[in-house]
Amino acid sequence: MPETEIRTVFSGYPDIIYGFTDISYCSYRESYRSALVLAVPYGEQLTPDDYTEERFEQGIQTAKGRLETVVAEIEQVLQKHHVKYWIPPVAQENETELRALFSFKTAAAHAGIGWFGKNDVIITEKYGPRVRLSAILIDEVFTYGRPVTTGRCPDDCTKCVDICPCKALKNQQWSIEKDRSEIIDYQKCNRMRSAFIKKLGRKNACGLCMAVCPFGRHEQES
Ligand code: SF4
Ligand code: SF4
Repeated sequence: MPETEIRTVFSGYPDIIYGFTDISYCSYRESYRSALVLAVPYGEQLTPDDYTEERFEQGIQTAKGRLETVVAEIEQVLQKHHVKYWIPPVAQENETELRALFSFKTAAAHAGIGWFGKNDVIITEKYGPRVRLSAILIDEVFTYGRPVTTGRCPDDCTKCVDICPCKALKNQQWSIEKDRSEIIDYQKCNRMRSAFIKKLGRKNACGLCMAVCPFGRHEQES
């Protein structure tokens, strides 16, 4: 069983949130029994006071580098135990559906890492939405987290809804049976971010609806 060794890897990264979930809820259940979900805090935990798109993008890149390091260590464990695994790509399949092959966010909710905020981003108690997610599908059984099935955003909080420059968010509390389209007009969000490709050579990272979230803000106040 590689679980103990995987947990030992994470003990070297105490700030990284992780959890296991069975994936009987999705089509990959034919090939893998579980998913390990990782949530690495962004390099900078930005608020609206210090937010710039460049700093937000840099924070993403820092978290990405750390993710690659820890995932490589976990791969070594899995290979040593000859366990079948697959790391799904983070990228969306195409620009029409704008959906990834395997949703890290859905897996994070199933693993008990957090809930979908009204900004359609996973909200963790510790960092709010300021985390980068990844997942590894693993054909092995683990001790699973308790799934989060409903949103925990305060009913009267509309900070992310109000700050969105293209009014893509619909001020809807999430629950696990809801479709993404009930929370966000993803095409609107993507159109706004894609408009920057010519100027930046990439989409606008836009983390406004994350920087404004009050969850996790105590991290930099302490
Ligand atoms: S990422 Fe930006 S454009 Fe998209 S929903 Fe959040 S604030 Fe709006
Ligand atoms: S800003 Fe408020 S409504 Fe939006 S995700 Fe954070 S807690 Fe939820």
